Amino acid sequence: MTKSFVCLNLLFLSLLTTAHAQQPKPPANPFGSLPQATPAQQENFPPHLIEELNSIKAAALTDDYAYHQVAHITENIGPRPSGSLQAKAAVDYVAAELRRLGLDVQLEEVKVPHWVRGVETAELTEYSGQAAGTAQKIVLTALGGSTSTPVEGLSADVVVVNNFDELKLLGHDKVAGKIVFFNEPFDKQKAAAGMAFMSYGEAVLYRAAGPKAAADLGAAAALVRSVGSADFRLPHTGFSVPAGIPAGAVTAEDADLIAHLGAQGNVRMHLTLTPQKLPDATGYNVIADLKGNEHPEQVVVVSGHIDSWDLGTGAIDDGAGVAIAMEAAELLQKLHLHPKRTLRVIAWMDEESGGAGSAAYTKDHSADFPSHVAAIESDAGAAHPLGFDGKMSAHAAEILRPALNVLQSIGANVLRESTYPPGADIAAISDSGVPALGILEDGRTYFHFHHTAADTLDKIVPSELRENAAAMAVMGYALTNMKNPLPR
Ligand SMILES: [Zn+2]
Repeated sequence: MTKSFVCLNLLFLSLLTTAHAQQPKPPANPFGSLPQATPAQQENFPPHLIEELNSIKAAALTDDYAYHQVAHITENIGPRPSGSLQAKAAVDYVAAELRRLGLDVQLEEVKVPHWVRGVETAELTEYSGQAAGTAQKIVLTALGGSTSTPVEGLSADVVVVNNFDELKLLGHDKVAGKIVFFNEPFDKQKAAAGMAFMSYGEAVLYRAAGPKAAADLGAAAALVRSVGSADFRLPHTGFSVPAGIPAGAVTAEDADLIAHLGAQGNVRMHLTLTPQKLPDATGYNVIADLKGNEHPEQVVVVSGHIDSWDLGTGAIDDGAGVAIAMEAAELLQKLHLHPKRTLRVIAWMDEESGGAGSAAYTKDHSADFPSHVAAIESDAGAAHPLGFDGKMSAHAAEILRPALNVLQSIGANVLRESTYPPGADIAAISDSGVPALGILEDGRTYFHFHHTAADTLDKIVPSELRENAAAMAVMGYALTNMKNPLPR
């Protein structure tokens, strides 16, 4: 989810779309327990296909393949920011593993940004009521793309603003040379109530655009309150529009401290952030086909992104997404099920730092988008799946219902209508008219860990990852093997 454009896109998805669960048709027999299948549903999902989908689901629920993959990617390889040695090692690992499963694997080369974190420290050096000879430590982290302070750091007064309007009202004279601090809180109540991506969207605007807005008024540096619901003094990194000034995120706890002291009088900070932007590097999308035996030219994409932020090890964002896409192929091979259309597993590069991987895929493959039948991405964590966000016609959504019914026993049968592509890496495919699906995970705790040092393997519950693998594999195979290609 994050640009960490994935996450940003999901944000906008939540903000800009009106989400409706698909309403089932009323049963023909009002006393019947299930709606009657429509003729199009019956034609596309004959009994033998439903049997196969049930066997895939059952196999997924006892298969630890995806867990072993995400364990290797996160623990043996580690954090995978664009341009890093680990990103390349993860690409090589995923490619080798998919070759071992018998897929036809290509690496698609892409130029990616290469930004590396440096020292990141800060302290308040002047504030109301300060005990002589003391300072208050501030826990923070640099945002992706931040420039560096001098090695010895910089000292400046802090200007606290709650929103862009307040910044504008201050104007250049009161901002120039200062450290602007955006104190937009993450709405924990919304998140706890199941609307975490809306909370994320509201707060992440400041992470994404705040530093640039501050730089435009002459600020020396910009800080934002960490986006997310982490409350163990964990800072949250992520993409920020390049602003040409040092930019960071302070923990929610330290955001409160700065705001409280700022309300009492002048606050001065000493800030040291020394990240470096290195020359662009070479990265790769992994594209692995399990060829269709009837319509190999028709493609169903199952995917996640292999790059991650550097603070944690990228388990829920998004090692899990790659691992369950890999398992979709593994399950079909294990069960000797042959896709009629091509199942294409993609591990996208550079979702977090600009989306260069999906841009390269679009450049190289857009001529084939008319034969892309559907695209699925998982980039909203690894918690229990409720179903899918879907951007497709109502007709297509109705035809897919039998596949969702297979997932009802694990609670993953929601198809929530989306007017925005339900995944950053599949956005261009979706925008070309291809039906697109994003796995809809329970997001209530996702932003406790997302983009923090705590995005690690232990946050994945193996049984919930198996449910996600079931959802990806059942939907992927339904799309490759339903009688007709899913209509647009
Ligand atoms: Zn992500």
